[in-house]
Amino acid sequence: MSINNICQVLKEENYKDINKLINFIEENIKDYEKILNLNKEEILNSLENYRSIPASIYYTENNFPKVKDLNIFHDFKEMEKKIDFSKGFICPGCKEKSVNPYKCTPVDKEKKSCNFRKKSLNNTDNFFKFTFRDDFLSMPVIDQIFFPVDIWLSS
Ligand SMILES: [Zn+2]
Repeated sequence: MSINNICQVLKEENYKDINKLINFIEENIKDYEKILNLNKEEILNSLENYRSIPASIYYTENNFPKVKDLNIFHDFKEMEKKIDFSKGFICPGCKEKSVNPYKCTPVDKEKKSCNFRKKSLNNTDNFFKFTFRDDFLSMPVIDQIFFPVDIWLSS
């Protein structure tokens, strides 16, 4: 799989802004190659195997954020060792602590949930984005959760 294949797919989708999207993908893949220690073809193969929606919708900042916004771990075990999830997560809606990383569920049972939940393709600046290096080829997914309190306090 090469960038030309993606270009072809975008043409078939009649996508209008092909050059801009291809530039975005190429720039991003360069950074992913370095941080994941994989080559471009491997990464593209894996993304294309995984993709189940049109390429023009899939290759966005949401599914494919910039490396500077991304936290990389070898696997879930390493992430668990580095982050204490028992401290909860910061709800991006009300900034209260939530026990659920996807949906506002206050740690403090006296407080009411603001009902904030992660919606796809919306502003995700206040989310903690991560992926697992060891599984990336089989599961090239960037997950986005509410910010763990443990990280929030230490940054
Ligand atoms: Zn909330």
